[in-house]
Amino acid sequence: MKIVYLGTAAAEGIPAVFCNCETCRAARLHGGRAIRTRAQVLIDGELSIDFSPDAFYHSALLGADLSAVKYLFVTHSHFDHIFPQELCMRGYVYAHGMTSPSLSVYANGEVTGLIREFTRREMREDVAAGISFHVLHPYEETAAGDYTVVTLPAKHNTEEPLLFCFEKGGKRVLHLCDTGFPSSEALDFLKEHAGRCDLITLDCTHLFSPTRPSGRHMGLADNARLLEELEKRGLADGNTKRVVTHFSHNSAPTEELLLRAEREYGVIAAYDGLTVEI
Ligand SMILES: [Zn+2]
Ligand SMILES: [Zn+2]
Ligand SMILES: [Zn+2]
Repeated sequence: MKIVYLGTAAAEGIPAVFCNCETCRAARLHGGRAIRTRAQVLIDGELSIDFSPDAFYHSALLGADLSAVKYLFVTHSHFDHIFPQELCMRGYVYAHGMTSPSLSVYANGEVTGLIREFTRREMREDVAAGISFHVLHPYEETAAGDYTVVTLPAKHNTEEPLLFCFEKGGKRVLHLCDTGFPSSEALDFLKEHAGRCDLITLDCTHLFSPTRPSGRHMGLADNARLLEELEKRGLADGNTKRVVTHFSHNSAPTEELLLRAEREYGVIAAYDGLTVEI
């Protein structure tokens, strides 16, 4: 499996649109990896986790063929994870020679409702015909093409936010993003319905900054505790790749700090365009 991290910032992006903090000013000045866009992860070019307002940038500057996405799994309704209007561009005179003319969207009911509501004015019937919806809830097992998917509840103070575990061809990827520390019930369910993961993506919005246990995001210390819990249940081991992402400008994810995170916590710090193979 090939996993590409197309967007690795929290909701505001880096540099944040309206921000002049030191991190955002430095990002504007230096560009390159200091620029971070909003959430999107691509698996084998055909499955996208989330679809942010920066999908345009992911296609234009990171070379992603987003017309090849057959399965779109959306974690929750926050705008940095789903930007529905862009889906109106899937066809008619706006898109020629699409690699996959059909797209299946898997998400909670709030997200599917949001997509319908925000595309109502501009969506053509022939474009809409290429998009199907599958409503998911936490604690379900579903199939999408060759993928078996387990859903878990995230801790994120929104409508039924979802975490996903994807399995294909004996490889397993666990996506733990926008969430605080998941419940023991969720981790136990994963133990029952999945198994050892080859790659785990972790919400690391706060990086080295302290977080509250009741919070809706995590930092490195939470990630380390969570990985211990996953190891205890046989869901992670020494060969599991651990990628941290969804960084906020408030945690100042400089190159120096991220190298320190990698050294001290044994994780891979994501950047826009990072590709990991398992
Ligand atoms: Zn987010
Ligand atoms: Zn800033
Ligand atoms: Zn969110």
